[in-house]
Amino acid sequence: MLIIGVGRRTIKNYGSLKTDYCNRCSNNSDFQLHKHTKWISLFFIPLIPYGRDNLIVCPRCGYYEKIDEITFTKLKTALENKDLITQIPLKQEVDPYKGKNETQVNFLREMAKHKEESLKKNTSNDENL
Ligand SMILES: [Zn+2]
Repeated sequence: MLIIGVGRRTIKNYGSLKTDYCNRCSNNSDFQLHKHTKWISLFFIPLIPYGRDNLIVCPRCGYYEKIDEITFTKLKTALENKDLITQIPLKQEVDPYKGKNETQVNFLREMAKHKEESLKKNTSNDENL
């Protein structure tokens, strides 16, 4: 019997890129360069790679961003040469409403509106002084 499997995933960690602030977990995190590869396996032995992802990962909370092959190669080379990496291409666009239900989202929106209005009020008070 032939056992063919798909979706087996291997993770290769190329090491620490740079310590930077992670918007998701609010920590200074040691961002890592990862390559995740999905495999088609035969008798549980990974044979054919498909679906490669190049990622920059926050090891504290698991936040990640995909990067293109060119950026990945540049960062990988820099790590191999032990070059100082001064910047990592993180967008860190975290949706503040992600994972929240409708009531929570509405509450957060109200709070944001309220904060904005009280800021406006404070500014106009200052003008009167
Ligand atoms: Zn994080």
